[in-house]
Amino acid sequence: MSKTVAIVGRPNVGKSRLFNALLKKRVAIVHDQPGVTRDPNAAELSAGLTLVDTGGWGLSQIKNISRQSNELAEAVENQVEIAIQAAEEILFVVDGRTGLTSLDDQIARKLRAYRDKVTLIINKIDEEKTEFDEGEFLKLGFPRWQVVSAEHGRGIEGVRNTLLKLAPAAAPETEAPIKRPALAIIGRPNVGKSSLMNALLKQNRVIVSPISGTTRDPVTVDLDYKGKGNKVYQFTLIDTAGLRHRTKVSSSVEVFSQMRARDVLEKTNVAVLIVDALDGITAQDKQLAGDIQKAGKPIVIVVNKWDMAAVQFAGGNKIDGYETLQEFEADCRRNIEEALFFTAQAPIVFISAKEDMNLEKVLKEAQAIEAKQDSTFSTPEVNKTLEKLIRKNAPRNATGKVFRVYYATQTGTRPYYFKLFCNQVEGVNDSFKRYLARGFSEQFDVGGCPIFFTFVSKPKREFKMGSLKHNLNRKRKGLR
Ligand code: GDP
Repeated sequence: MSKTVAIVGRPNVGKSRLFNALLKKRVAIVHDQPGVTRDPNAAELSAGLTLVDTGGWGLSQIKNISRQSNELAEAVENQVEIAIQAAEEILFVVDGRTGLTSLDDQIARKLRAYRDKVTLIINKIDEEKTEFDEGEFLKLGFPRWQVVSAEHGRGIEGVRNTLLKLAPAAAPETEAPIKRPALAIIGRPNVGKSSLMNALLKQNRVIVSPISGTTRDPVTVDLDYKGKGNKVYQFTLIDTAGLRHRTKVSSSVEVFSQMRARDVLEKTNVAVLIVDALDGITAQDKQLAGDIQKAGKPIVIVVNKWDMAAVQFAGGNKIDGYETLQEFEADCRRNIEEALFFTAQAPIVFISAKEDMNLEKVLKEAQAIEAKQDSTFSTPEVNKTLEKLIRKNAPRNATGKVFRVYYATQTGTRPYYFKLFCNQVEGVNDSFKRYLARGFSEQFDVGGCPIFFTFVSKPKREFKMGSLKHNLNRKRKGLR
């Protein structure tokens, strides 16, 4: 995953200029007035290394941005705390000409415990002969420091080169696909799991029976399916005919199969959820889809027994309310999307296991989704997407304060994980998470792959008011 370098410092020390100088281009708007940096401000310094200017985080909501305001001090503190959590490396910028202020001291205090990842950047030293009190800055206690002029490019190359060494070793964009992905065939009893297995294998390795639950143990078998144009699909099929919902478990055999089912999901690369064309989506289908989603596995929804729907229309026996099979299919699709709304754009395939209809499409979708699970998305792209989504729809907390994300980054694949550093977690609910997942899966074309978000807001204060009072009292009494 991408690494993050965060630039922190009080307003006006030259964070945006440093950001631009390191990137060798003017991305941020630079003004002498504090708080005007566009945010979130993230750009790629090199592949897998993101540079972030924290300058704007939280400042846009502040009405009073005078140098002394408490609000400003709090926003800066906020920036630093989030940077500590989000970044592998921190550039702490100070103004070499004006010297240290109390806000600088405040930042330094916060960063000291993380000094291993901090480089002190003494900025605005435009020329060799520019005088400044080096000792004052070194007293801050950061062993790594650089004297630069972001404005004139002095010392920038050195900082950049040091940072570039942090870039993760070049990894291929996408990892080699798993040779034989495990495809779990999941569905409630009698939807046609065993029939599909058989149709795919074209041999009777699995017992097919109209009595539900005759194939209880998951069966694993390697499949080389020859599709059209000599295309071969290779999978390991897992049949989970014994899968039962917990509340429906009635016998020890079923308990056993259920435990196996959980194991199965762990080993699965892509889950094929079979539903019955004529039954529509039942509560049990929903439960199974939820289990798959929670396990972080991508899903292909397969509507089986489509031959029965087709027969009805072909024989002139229309299904109530529908003129054509296509109309019925479109409505089925809508209903599934609505009932399984949490499966974010999973592909839906209409098949008949019995009539050998559209089976290749199932494998094609499974293969496509399998290949979509290893992507790395650039941090700036992730942030841009989030910004767009949040502009349209942002939760509020109880007091009406609007949710804002300062910075976000991808933290995992299989399943996709993103970490969001934000001003508040209050108001962030499942429906908002689903909204984001939907937006991401559209933007990054990973429909059907579960996407998880972790929200991180400013940690709780490190000290208690009580201990602060205690210290003040001691000070007043002249105690140390
Ligand atoms: P499982 O419990 O999910 O493994 O379901 P089975 O594969 O045992 O199928 C249950 C019943 O549905 C059997 O009677 C199958 O013949 C029937 N069936 C399965 N697939 C289809 C299909 O595509 N069309 C029709 N008409 N019947 C099917």
